[in-house]
Amino acid sequence: MSLSVDQQSAGNVAQAEEAFLFADDLPTALSAGNERALRPWRVLITDDDEEVHRATTYALRGVEVDGRPLELLHASSASEAVALLQVEKDIAVGMLDVVMETPDAGLRLVETIRNELGLRSMRIVLRTGQPGYAPELDVIRRYDINDYRTKSELTQTRLITTLTAGLRAYEQLELVRAANRGMETVARASNEIFRLRSTQEFSRVLLQCLAELLGRDMDAVVCLEKSSAEAQRDHGLYIESAAGRYVAMQGCAAEKALDVEMLRAIRRCTAARSCVFEPGRFAMWLGCGSRDAVVVVDLEQPLHEIEHRLVEMFASSLAVGFENVDLIERLDFFAFFDPLTHLPNRTRFIADVDQDLFSRQGGTRCLAIADIVRFSEVNDALGHRCGDSLLVAVSKRLRVALGTGVTLSRIAADSFGIYGPENAVDPESVRKAFELPFFVHGHALAIQMRMGLVQVSQCKGNAVELLRNANLALTQARRADGGSFCEFSVMMSEDVQTRVSMLHNLRAAIDFKRGLSVHYQPLVNAASGEVLGVEALLRWRNDFGEMVPPLRFIPLAERTGMINELGLWVLEQALDRLAAWHRQGHRQLGIAINISPVQLRSEDFVPKVRRIIEYCDVPPAQICFEFTEAVGLEDPVLLAARLGALRELGIRLGIDDFGTGHSSLRQLIGLATDVVKIDPTYIEQIAHSAEERALAASVVELARSRCPRVVAEGVETAEQAQALLAMGCELMQGFHFGRPMAADQFDAWLRGNRQG
Ligand code: C2E
Ligand code: CA
Ligand code: CA
Repeated sequence: MSLSVDQQSAGNVAQAEEAFLFADDLPTALSAGNERALRPWRVLITDDDEEVHRATTYALRGVEVDGRPLELLHASSASEAVALLQVEKDIAVGMLDVVMETPDAGLRLVETIRNELGLRSMRIVLRTGQPGYAPELDVIRRYDINDYRTKSELTQTRLITTLTAGLRAYEQLELVRAANRGMETVARASNEIFRLRSTQEFSRVLLQCLAELLGRDMDAVVCLEKSSAEAQRDHGLYIESAAGRYVAMQGCAAEKALDVEMLRAIRRCTAARSCVFEPGRFAMWLGCGSRDAVVVVDLEQPLHEIEHRLVEMFASSLAVGFENVDLIERLDFFAFFDPLTHLPNRTRFIADVDQDLFSRQGGTRCLAIADIVRFSEVNDALGHRCGDSLLVAVSKRLRVALGTGVTLSRIAADSFGIYGPENAVDPESVRKAFELPFFVHGHALAIQMRMGLVQVSQCKGNAVELLRNANLALTQARRADGGSFCEFSVMMSEDVQTRVSMLHNLRAAIDFKRGLSVHYQPLVNAASGEVLGVEALLRWRNDFGEMVPPLRFIPLAERTGMINELGLWVLEQALDRLAAWHRQGHRQLGIAINISPVQLRSEDFVPKVRRIIEYCDVPPAQICFEFTEAVGLEDPVLLAARLGALRELGIRLGIDDFGTGHSSLRQLIGLATDVVKIDPTYIEQIAHSAEERALAASVVELARSRCPRVVAEGVETAEQAQALLAMGCELMQGFHFGRPMAADQFDAWLRGNRQG
């Protein structure tokens, strides 16, 4: 049974005074009051002598340690103390009598406290009435006992000093424990956060981790600037994520939703570009090059110094995480949106249409392509700026004419993809919407639109096929004079014919190895000039003597499964050649082979690859299989198994065309790859605006942070090569160094290159 402080009666004061000598030299720091009402220290008094309880209570009345009052808990036996310790938390110091139920009840209690209850931080002061009962020194060490006193030794001053020492030691131990826990949380949270893909997820998880780190529920907000890609009109911070009393403000502009104090903290934080701690709150700065991000947390109590440091540590790893997420979002934006009109681009359009086709049962839907009649004339006559403004204005007018139920996208320079319910995709309302001229840069431009249209019910295919058919219809419309529209009919699909004949032709080419060859394009280290290897690229000259580009016949070969044979044939040719180059002494040369995802599906692909490698006798580590992002669409279990099997053979794996789509990024992050090839579109951008150059640089940087070998593809000029070197990318491929060449030509090129 425990007695509370208030239950102590004043009647016992006289006795208490006898038990403790009064001293008037109380350390002032200890008794100095503190304005803030702080958590009391909890102290457990265990003694079978009522008097000791009273006297202790009296001696400690009104005492504060480091500004915190005391809360005394009382137990009159060891067993009572154990029962109490099982339910009461945060007891900092226990003052225990040694002799209670048994002569060593106090010592046993200490053992229970340390070993059974696992209370390692709690400080223990043993008190005994009988001086002869001093425990052995090793007992004091073993049980981590802080102090041992006979009751008569404990004057009031001594009692308070002993208690103070114990309380401070307890606080230190708790802090160390908190720091350790905190570091673990920071490490784990940073890891978790690094895997996130969107700023939204990022901010949500960030708040969870922060609450965990500080061990309390919080009122907090994460404020972000709109990403550079989306922010055109809307400057300033908005609340991306919130906790506690701010939850309802999610999505609002910070300027409008938050109070003056919060806003001031944010301003100080962004100005200082670092964490700011002030009474009542702290703010963490996570900004990256392209936008600001600030987390503001309300504080009821000031942070402890250790928490302070943990917050700073967490903030710096969050900043790295945020930069990563921001980059991914920007890449996504560039991969899926047209930066000029902010409409979805072709890739996104196709994905959206496919998604709708897939989820919809039957449908009266319709897809159209609209383009601007003689747009190039406007561009040429009035300049690109004017052309750009016109495109933006046209996109807005289309949006209004078609209504919100229709998907609108910019699929090429001056053409727009339109998809929606049959009655909404209406050429007549589009025509009407364009009756009035556009006013652009002081010019009044009369514009007409042309449309090619296809009913979804008219053809069975996916979005790409619908687009192709709409395009056929558009071509028809172009033939008619001026602005017009034309609807697709099956008659238009003459290209089905072309495809069938190409298929026959390709089949024959494969069967008789007629017109097929492999060309080799050098891969160089532009810093040292060393030729590191080649990429094998398939070439086909058809029966009519025309070169058919791989991008035309490879998709066909994929759809018909012919790619399996074709791909293995390329591998055989290429490894045979490589072996010959190795024999000639060019042992450093490696080879990159393009592998279609279709090939991975084939069960005997890996065994066949192994046989070819063994037969040609080439070190597998010098072979790299390149996959494009399309590999991400494969069944993940099968994919992992096949890639794992290839890796076991010792073959390197590479990601091709990196940066062209979302999946490549996911793929790269998810899979261990040996090589990343940055898509030529980024290299091309190097010569453009500073912003595009910066984007190229961030793609290089992202690739480099995840993969040891990064190759820039499609390098056509010395200027591009220089810029890439400056970005830290040394491995390059492109016309600037060498075009794809027939094997013999490559031999000659190698000789020339060596001399040069
Ligand atoms: P890829 O794997 O990205 O190959 C690089 C393409 O860029 C090649 O086009 C190459 O000729 C071209 N190229 C290289 N340097 C430059 C440059 O500086 N400027 C420009 N503008 N282009 C450059 P190619 O040979 O037409 O091949 C196109 C695609 O066809 C390849 O893209 C690859 O995806 C596929 N492909 C080619 N051969 C094979 C093959 O044997 N199997 C499979 N599955 N796909 C293949
Ligand atoms: Ca490639
Ligand atoms: Ca490529």
